[in-house]
Amino acid sequence: MKRRGSGLAAAVLAGVVFIAGTAAAGAETEVTQVRLGIHPGAVRVVVEASAELRISAFVLVRPYRVVLDMPEVRWRLPLAAGRGGKGFVAGYRFGQFVPGRARMVFDLKGPAVIAKSFTLAPSKGRPWRFVLDLKRATAAEARARAGRPAAVTAARRRPPLARSPKKPRYRQIVVVIDPGHGGIDPGTTGRRKRVFEKHITLAMARRLKRELDNGGRYKTVLTRTRDVFVRLRDRIARARGSGADLFISLHADFMADSRIRGASVYTLSERASDKEAAALAAKENKADLIAGMDLSANSKQVTDILIDLAQRETMNHSVRFARILVDEMRKSTRFLRKSHRFAGFAVLKAPDVPSVLLEMGYLSNAEDEARLIQPRYRARLAKAIARAIDRYFHARGKAAGR
Ligand SMILES: [Zn+2]
Repeated sequence: MKRRGSGLAAAVLAGVVFIAGTAAAGAETEVTQVRLGIHPGAVRVVVEASAELRISAFVLVRPYRVVLDMPEVRWRLPLAAGRGGKGFVAGYRFGQFVPGRARMVFDLKGPAVIAKSFTLAPSKGRPWRFVLDLKRATAAEARARAGRPAAVTAARRRPPLARSPKKPRYRQIVVVIDPGHGGIDPGTTGRRKRVFEKHITLAMARRLKRELDNGGRYKTVLTRTRDVFVRLRDRIARARGSGADLFISLHADFMADSRIRGASVYTLSERASDKEAAALAAKENKADLIAGMDLSANSKQVTDILIDLAQRETMNHSVRFARILVDEMRKSTRFLRKSHRFAGFAVLKAPDVPSVLLEMGYLSNAEDEARLIQPRYRARLAKAIARAIDRYFHARGKAAGR
């Protein structure tokens, strides 16, 4: 069934954040509908499109998911599509995965396998259809058939993990801004389910970049400039590859208790400062999992290197910047009672780049949500963050005798 947002709400949002219908450049084929049907012990998934879809489908375990990879498409699905499931399919997500490729991820309530998949050509007024029959299975069966996502991932250049060459003495300060989530991973959603964290973070990142570029003092780099999925470790790699002096990851949170509001700043620590901080880190670290990546193969090695290299000095700088950031933002933004906390965020693990993660507010809170979708509020926030960055580097420059 198609459900569209009310025209007014959509119009208000259209100028503020991008909505799920945003098309990727160059994509011709439109995905127009996704239907789920229950059969005994099975769920049929039908994806309707304007042209033939060359889909590759595979099962993943821990958690149980079915992934559909396809060339880039235009999503013509209602914003709320995928939020409800049927049978053992809990729901689904869709979006761009890497440039040129799109992905759908169906979350399963238990182990299942793909029993059948086929394409139907248009007939009797029906468009192209891709049909996937999922069948309940044992955990062992699902595991045995679990696909390797590497086979469908586009090869990408990765900057080496080795220390970057010595930086020249006089150069622009490089600030890397990391808009949280993106593409297949929407992050959290607003109360009215129309605002996605990934859009807020990107809009905010762009505004902050504009603010910093104005002065000419900084070179700013965004880890993503559009609605695309970027792996956590690629975000770190991008920061290090561009010789970042500071890394700011932007996010917005969601709480079951809609009264809770306010911003908070996080820095890296292997030991979380409290339970909430630990839970939040766990949630943000799941971004790769959400996109259907299998990290188990090489995450151990990467983690070890990163922890080894996590220098105390970098952490101290991160903490110093976090304090200044809270101080500057306080002038225009409400904060949680514990405004600065520590936890093991994967995205903050660049060993030689001072890094903070800023949760700008709660999309679950009406006031925070209303503010974050306003360009005017984001401009104010950007100015406060820019002031904090100025202060931080001013102090560092003095300390270094520059
Ligand atoms: Zn987030």
